[in-house]
Amino acid sequence: MARRIGLLGGTFNPVHIGHLRAALEVAEFMALDELRLLPSARPPHREAPQVSAEQRLAMVELAVAGEPRLSVDDRELRRDRPSYTVETLESVRGELAADDQLFLLVGWDAFCSLPSWHRWQELLTHCHLLVLQRPDADSEAPEALRDLLAARNVSDPLSLTGASGQISFIWQTPLAVSATQIRQLLASGQSARYLLPDAVLAYIQAHQLYGAPNA
Ligand code: ATP
Repeated sequence: MARRIGLLGGTFNPVHIGHLRAALEVAEFMALDELRLLPSARPPHREAPQVSAEQRLAMVELAVAGEPRLSVDDRELRRDRPSYTVETLESVRGELAADDQLFLLVGWDAFCSLPSWHRWQELLTHCHLLVLQRPDADSEAPEALRDLLAARNVSDPLSLTGASGQISFIWQTPLAVSATQIRQLLASGQSARYLLPDAVLAYIQAHQLYGAPNA
């Protein structure tokens, strides 16, 4: 039986309910066997001074604990430099059966910047693209993507067939929360409670991340 696996990359600095609800809703809607959150490595100088890659990973692990549809894939953090998405996809593919379906989730903005990605024309040989689109968004694709969309777009995401090669859109209202907002709240001594799982907030407090006072 072919498996259906989704990947959601991000810095998750820290992971929050916006990421988690988006991931869970896509996993349920698409009937995925597994949706993996994939924390990305950041160049060392871009790590927030007191938050390491290991701590970002630990927070994602706490966030998905007990939710069987969500998991964490730490392969980008195990490399010694930030990975190109195409390399990550090659690596994931190498562990799957040929007919397993792989879905890469990308936001609309990321999708529009696709032509600037390393070896971007190869991405669809490894996965399908699920473009997360806000219902109110203006979705005129850039010129460079029109031919690709004309050739690969499937209007119903549940009709994507085969292991890879197609693009579809999922319309989803994102929760109004960002990691930037959470970092700012914590740095100014305000509560970030309910914007992220309690276990993640407890971890942040225990390790005094983002300027949060020890609980
Ligand atoms: P920052 O505020 O630090 O830029 P962020 O909250 O946007 O971070 P990222 O780690 O950059 O988080 O996001 C990872 C992925 O999750 C991206 O594809 C992003 O579009 C998506 N995402 C971020 N916030 C939300 C949200 N509130 N709802 C749905 N998806 C989100």
